[in-house]
Amino acid sequence: MSEAIRVHDVAAADWRDWGWQMRHRIRTAADLRAFLEPTPDEVAAIEALATRFRFVITPYYASLMDPADPDCPIRRQVVPRLAELGDPAGLADPLDEVAHSPVKNVIRVYRDRIAFCVNNECALYCRYCLRKRMVGDEDWTMQKRELETALDWIARTPEIRDVLLTGGDPLVYSDAKLEWLLGRLRAIPHVELIRLGTRLPVTLPFRVTKALCAMLERFHPIWVNTHFNHPRELTEEAAEACDRLLRAGIPVGNQSVLLRGINDSLPVMQALCEGLVRMRVRPYYVYQAQLLEGTAHFRVPIEAGQAIFRAMRGRTSGFAIPQYVLDTPHGKVPLELPFVKGREGDDYVVEAWDGAIWREPNPR
Ligand code: SF4
Repeated sequence: MSEAIRVHDVAAADWRDWGWQMRHRIRTAADLRAFLEPTPDEVAAIEALATRFRFVITPYYASLMDPADPDCPIRRQVVPRLAELGDPAGLADPLDEVAHSPVKNVIRVYRDRIAFCVNNECALYCRYCLRKRMVGDEDWTMQKRELETALDWIARTPEIRDVLLTGGDPLVYSDAKLEWLLGRLRAIPHVELIRLGTRLPVTLPFRVTKALCAMLERFHPIWVNTHFNHPRELTEEAAEACDRLLRAGIPVGNQSVLLRGINDSLPVMQALCEGLVRMRVRPYYVYQAQLLEGTAHFRVPIEAGQAIFRAMRGRTSGFAIPQYVLDTPHGKVPLELPFVKGREGDDYVVEAWDGAIWREPNPR
């Protein structure tokens, strides 16, 4: 069990030290009481789910929770509820990732790129995590020899141009381990692009140190995709973390998941995306929540998602509108409603954001 913390007594330097945050993570209902009084449902769920999907939260992320609101969108993402036990339709691996793995923890859906799950650890565990079957589970830890096997496979597969380091979270690695891994990848001539999929700018922004950014900068082109879901996550600390990455020349994009009661409304989604753009983070994808075990209470009907993204068009800058997608075992599929309504003769008939119909002659 982690040492109980008294939030007001923590020195500012400790609070901003990512190692301190990792060592003082919340793991029990008793730890959580330093931030809020858990409901009976939450206490029972923490116990009932203890062996099924880990409950861990960084003190920083816990400090964003509203203690007075059990439906707080930050709290709902990370504090278990008994509803997780009642989802008969949910699957363990809805994208069939295991079947798409030529070697352990390498997922290949497309010819030229892979998701390389280098780490099964995260700073905290999101209750809707697509990889809950593996994150936090020791069976999925990548030992050094398994990392070597995966690196050998990449080196022997010349079509692989783009490698996404994900997990879990690659930034939970130490700088030295990440540097070793990036060096090995950069030594493979056909690997053009390295992407990092990380939620640490959101859940533990102090991890994004100047030293980390200076190290990453040596392995360009490096891109980062992070994972903000709600405008309340757009704190000064998170903005500073993204700014450090951007100043190191690393483009930062955002991928959210559409979650019921968290970001499934136009005002919240618009505020999130506009806030990201103010931080110079590009809203890139919003995923439809998968048919994943224990997540029925998070899933949103696709029509509701389509209505949100249709309504954003015309209401905000085009680059603030992410693509609404469904991930499938065959890759990502855009879910947006079509703006092209059909053809009349050779002309295209389109619908503008305000509902106006326009007929455009088709250049030949
Ligand atoms: S940070 Fe990402 S990988 Fe980790 S639990 Fe959350 S969604 Fe899953």
